[in-house]
Amino acid sequence: MCTMESTKSFAFYTLGCKLNFAESSYLGKTLLQNGFRKAEKGETPSICVINTCTVTDTADKKCRQTIHKIRKQYPDTYLIVTGCYAQLSAESIALMEGVDKVLGANDKFEIPQHLLTGNHQLQVSDTKKITPFYPSCSAEDRTRHFLKVQDGCDYFCTYCAIPYARGRSRNGAIADLVKQAQEVAQNGGKEIILTGVNIGDFGKSTGETCLQLLQALDQVEGIERFRISSIEPNLLTDEIIDFVASSKRFAPHFHIPLQAGSNAVLTLMHRRYDTSLFAHKIQLIKQKMPHAFIGVDVIVGMRGETDELFEQSYQFIASLPISELHVFSYSERAGTAALRIPYKVSPAIKKERSHRLLTLSNAKKQAFYQSQLGTQRSVLWESTKKNGYMSGFTENYVKVKQPYQADKINTLTSLTLTPEQLDYEI
Ligand code: SF4
Repeated sequence: MCTMESTKSFAFYTLGCKLNFAESSYLGKTLLQNGFRKAEKGETPSICVINTCTVTDTADKKCRQTIHKIRKQYPDTYLIVTGCYAQLSAESIALMEGVDKVLGANDKFEIPQHLLTGNHQLQVSDTKKITPFYPSCSAEDRTRHFLKVQDGCDYFCTYCAIPYARGRSRNGAIADLVKQAQEVAQNGGKEIILTGVNIGDFGKSTGETCLQLLQALDQVEGIERFRISSIEPNLLTDEIIDFVASSKRFAPHFHIPLQAGSNAVLTLMHRRYDTSLFAHKIQLIKQKMPHAFIGVDVIVGMRGETDELFEQSYQFIASLPISELHVFSYSERAGTAALRIPYKVSPAIKKERSHRLLTLSNAKKQAFYQSQLGTQRSVLWESTKKNGYMSGFTENYVKVKQPYQADKINTLTSLTLTPEQLDYEI
């Protein structure tokens, strides 16, 4: 184990959601402000921080693999493990070979202090006492910026461990978030994606509302586009849909977690809506913005999801004018209420259901892309280069490509979509 000095270099390994990436970016800045420096490419970092995720069993496994890999690659590096998995499985991580420090989900925000003065291997605060909101923003390939607007969740859906890892719902103040968005614009950023655990719940800790946040951000000059990442259907109010439809900057792009298309399973999950509310939201979006892209999350194989209930779910999803599905297999999470539901779905059935939904998703995505041919859209070009092409997304999330031109990165082009421009086979 090495002793920490302020000239040490650091590297981050981030797993999981965009919120984690935004937070790693913030943590990197706090280390820089405290005299640490970013490790150069090819250099062995003095400190490695692994920011973990615990959304599923597979996420836990990936975290453990990353810890082993980093330890093997850098035997003398000071290894810190933090994030959601560290919060919920601190003791077992601390027992892993070569882990120098485990910091809880919120303790990570004081990383420099723990490095400079803390000498305990484990520093994990009680999740119930987590109340501060730490602002974070990260940039992905210079064009898309992820702005954290909210953290934590009070919903306690029966399958989900995130409220136990991240604590109660809390958020930044609108005035501060607007300032952060203005800074992004001043640095040349054109697109901001709002991130959080339960964004629609925005405002609890500041007495504001999600709609007020969107209205304030819509005024930020220089930002061409905002996207709301995932928002719970019951919190996606009709007013928010109306607002996005009339907004200058909010993109006609929605990501809504349905999780199950059967009311019986939604009840088992303790979700706060039923299928008729969900169908209403989708219809309203399509009525106001026929060109809107709608991505929907679904979990297959939740405890209690019988063949009949899955079939109901499948038929409901098939009937909706949505553009894509994000399919997840139910994963048992320690301490969650779903473990009390006796009916279990086998891994083979989960796989089969997942496959059926992915096939449905492909058909829906193809139909959506097809429907966009001949329409005029604006594309924000990104920096990735693949086979001599660059790609970008339209406001309604159609991925397009063109021959690579470095000077086009982070610029917008208006074009009428043709099959050759689509970066997706239809
Ligand atoms: S809304 Fe439900 S699924 Fe989403 S983080 Fe909260 S408890 Fe988990």
